[in-house]
Amino acid sequence: MRHVNQDKVPGVRIRRRDMFAVVLANAVVLFVLSVVGNLTLIEAIMGSLTVLALAFIYHLSVSAGQSAFEKRAHIEAEKPDDGPRPIRLGRTMLDHLPIPVLLIGADGKIETSNPAARAFLSLGDEGGYLSASIRQPEVLNAVNAALKGQGSDPVEYSSLLPVEAHVRAFVSPLKTVENQKNWQAMLALTDETSLKRADRMRADFLANASHELRTPLASLSGFIETLSGHAKNDEEAQARFLAIMQDQTDRMRRLIDDLLVLSRVEMDEHVAPQGRADLSAIVAEVIEFLRPQIQGRNVEVETDIQSGGNVIGDRDQILEVIQNLLENAVKYSPKGSKVRIEITSGLSRNEAERPQIEMKPKASRLTLTAPSQEADKQYALVRIYDEGQGIARENLPRLSERFYRVDGQKSGPKEGTGLGLAIVKHIINRHRGGFTVESALGYGSTFSVFLPCEDHDQD
Ligand code: ADP
Repeated sequence: MRHVNQDKVPGVRIRRRDMFAVVLANAVVLFVLSVVGNLTLIEAIMGSLTVLALAFIYHLSVSAGQSAFEKRAHIEAEKPDDGPRPIRLGRTMLDHLPIPVLLIGADGKIETSNPAARAFLSLGDEGGYLSASIRQPEVLNAVNAALKGQGSDPVEYSSLLPVEAHVRAFVSPLKTVENQKNWQAMLALTDETSLKRADRMRADFLANASHELRTPLASLSGFIETLSGHAKNDEEAQARFLAIMQDQTDRMRRLIDDLLVLSRVEMDEHVAPQGRADLSAIVAEVIEFLRPQIQGRNVEVETDIQSGGNVIGDRDQILEVIQNLLENAVKYSPKGSKVRIEITSGLSRNEAERPQIEMKPKASRLTLTAPSQEADKQYALVRIYDEGQGIARENLPRLSERFYRVDGQKSGPKEGTGLGLAIVKHIINRHRGGFTVESALGYGSTFSVFLPCEDHDQD
């Protein structure tokens, strides 16, 4: 910051000197007049006091002016010397823009880039040639055209290394500030990778959904043909085929139901739930609801509720989560085995995600989804243990993909839809909770979900 010396302020020193001279001259005149006898002593004193008072007022006004000047000079001194205000504002805005923007000079070198561009293209402080960072001929051609003052349509390009990226480049010619005859090229890049990925996922999803529905539909149409053809009068075959047809229609209904649940859950995944739910009541309700399946497989379900699990969440969706997990535990367990459900509350995120509980031998643990770290949040955890055949380590990461089913997995009489765990993951995401799996082939599986506790639920 520049230092402002009062005495160097123009005019201030001169005015002080003038004031001193005027006061002195007046005092001398008054003294002479009183000595000569033209003024009484009282009049001379009064006159001197008046001159002094005027001089004092004058001094005050000079000081005020001086401090205003000083203030202005101080503000001026604080201004960085990087150009007029609109240019500085533009620069700041560019620096905060999350879209990569670059300015390319006539020699093809990057003259200016914002932090988003430097991060996106891994540029150092010295920009270097654009062609060293972007090797897409169409983008470079558009930049060359802009350097000749020609505009062009946006260019789309993709690269697979080091990671998959889909980018749209917008190139425009700009006149240089120094010489209005020269051109620079402005290049703005938009990252469309997530949009492209979402498009591909939608297309895959539609293809998978239609494939899953087409299989039972084809089988139904085959049986209808047989029943109306050579099995027309075969009562025993008719009864058998009708039972299979019933199974196929049930499967189609389950698929459509799960697809509807999944699309509803995905639709409001970004809206955090406001309700409250009691995990132990939900677990009890689900056990009752699944009683026929549990008894059908002769599975013993044991519960261990260590502390109440009052959580923030949508009760119906949490019920859907527990039902899917318990149904799987029963479905993928051998007849006569045991399933255990544990509820614990008041855990930190780390305790909920990686509880200090001895895992089954050779088991691997994988987090399928987890909330961001929030230091003071507490969670309630539900763990569902089964004694089924378990899941090999390499299959764990794909478990929550839609329509994914582990090859050769025995699921009792009804084949699953492969949508249950995808539904669980989306519901848990919406609740800002976590979802983990621990499993090892031959040693059963433990699926866990944790949800934010209701405030003050520390019991
Ligand atoms: P599904 O309707 O096929 O059960 P899910 O999405 O619920 O669909 O599960 C996906 C796959 O994960 C299942 O097909 C199965 O292979 C495997 N799986 C899920 N839960 C268990 C479990 N408790 N034990 C073993 N494998 C399981």
